[in-house]
Amino acid sequence: MKIMNLVWFRNDLRTKDNHSLKKACDADSPVMGVYFFDPRFYESRDFNLDVDIDLPFTRTGKYRAQFIIESVADLRRQLQEHNIPLLVFHDKPAKVLPDLVKEHDIKNIFLQKEWTKDEMDQEKDLGVELDKLDDKPKGHRTYDQFLYHPYDIPFESFQKIPKVFTEFRKKCEKQAQVRELVSIEAYKQDKLSVHKTEIPSLEDLGLESFEIDKRSAFPWEGGSKSAWNRLQHYFWETKQLQDYKKTRNGLIGTDYSSKFSAWLAQGCISAREIYHEVKKYEKEIKKNQDTYWLVFELIWRDFFKYVSLKHKEKIFNLGGILQKEYDWNSSHRELEKWINGETHEDFVNANMKEIAATGFMSNRGRQNVASYWSMHRKQDWRLGAAYFEHILIDYDVHSNYGNWMYNSGVGNDPRNRTFNIQSQADRYDSDHEYRDLWLEN
Ligand SMILES: Cc1cc2nc3c(=O)[nH]c(=O)nc-3n(C[C@H](O)[C@H](O)[C@H](O)COP(=O)(O)OP(=O)(O)OC[C@H]3O[C@@H](n4cnc5c(N)ncnc54)[C@H](O)[C@@H]3O)c2cc1C
Repeated sequence: MKIMNLVWFRNDLRTKDNHSLKKACDADSPVMGVYFFDPRFYESRDFNLDVDIDLPFTRTGKYRAQFIIESVADLRRQLQEHNIPLLVFHDKPAKVLPDLVKEHDIKNIFLQKEWTKDEMDQEKDLGVELDKLDDKPKGHRTYDQFLYHPYDIPFESFQKIPKVFTEFRKKCEKQAQVRELVSIEAYKQDKLSVHKTEIPSLEDLGLESFEIDKRSAFPWEGGSKSAWNRLQHYFWETKQLQDYKKTRNGLIGTDYSSKFSAWLAQGCISAREIYHEVKKYEKEIKKNQDTYWLVFELIWRDFFKYVSLKHKEKIFNLGGILQKEYDWNSSHRELEKWINGETHEDFVNANMKEIAATGFMSNRGRQNVASYWSMHRKQDWRLGAAYFEHILIDYDVHSNYGNWMYNSGVGNDPRNRTFNIQSQADRYDSDHEYRDLWLEN
């Protein structure tokens, strides 16, 4: 039997500009892929947060689960074009991979480098099992989720990354380059015979099926194909990129912002791919503050990844990275009222109803409901972050916990960022259209 290279896909569900896949294809052996629907991300209500109340929801809700199912199906189709099979399991990696390694004589495992607890736990468990094998495969980990690669940023170490975003951004913009894209376009191997595996359904994952709400600001499928269709529409067909900064604080509809977040979170498209398309657009169509601002936001995304690289587990602590002590409460009843949109703030309620019905909420809405929860009600911010982890279609550990800390006074900005919800509603929903849309029934 021929030695095999395995790509373990996690949050990098694409074939274009995927460094792990590229490295595997460049090595001199056939390639196969694997993806795990790890039950601990679906069934468990334990968010590893050490909070005072039992949380009434699981780690991954139906919207993101469906999006992942679609993304994995799309990845499988893309890989087929190169005759690379993708095996899919609804099980823990540590339970499946050792046998797979033996069965296919796998010598190399290529994967995206991660550092947060869940992903490290997966790897640790697996390491223990692989250590039992006589011939342990070699792991090849690559940072592939950034705009600015960790080896290119102008800071001596992660510990030297500035506290303040502006300083981080300015230095990166001046001294770092976004890398060029990699491709496996020309790669095609002989067909391999592997046993067939099924992608689980929502039901298999213990979740109910649902219809997309007609008011949804995010009505799309998971997968690279859909991500690129969206980019094509937003950049090239409707040219809305050139108005992005002016519209990004909107609340209603599909087009007030790019809506790239869910695809970015699963790695269906890379931040570098979006960056290079913006540059192309600026060259061919128009360059202005708005086109720049999309890149500016992608740098925010990077920044939160660097915050978690620097502070590791502290991003899950009550005191956050500032290690600030406030008097936090943990009320089950308050949580229920907030989730159900039954607070005394109609702007908060409308946003909470939107996220419950669709898995998506605008950035403006997220800032307001987070501020309401942690700063107005003085509730443990991690309970709110955990609900977002459950419900968001675009949940990303770094962006979620980073933004929650930031909005709760324990993050990278020590200023008090409490929002005046009423004046926010007056400013961003002056005609009540948004609240009417979500509160009418
Ligand atoms: C409390 C709270 C929780 C959040 N949780 C998440 C999360 O789990 N996953 C997530 O992707 N974003 C999160 N965000 C950031 C932001 O709200 C979403 O990225 C954005 O609303 C997604 O819509 P979009 O793709 O149309 O964004 P656009 O406005 O079109 O921005 C383009 C891209 O830039 C990045 N971006 C924009 N704003 C931010 C930001 N504040 N922080 C980090 N990246 C940003 C995203 O990748 C986004 O897709 C959170 C914000 C708050 C206030």
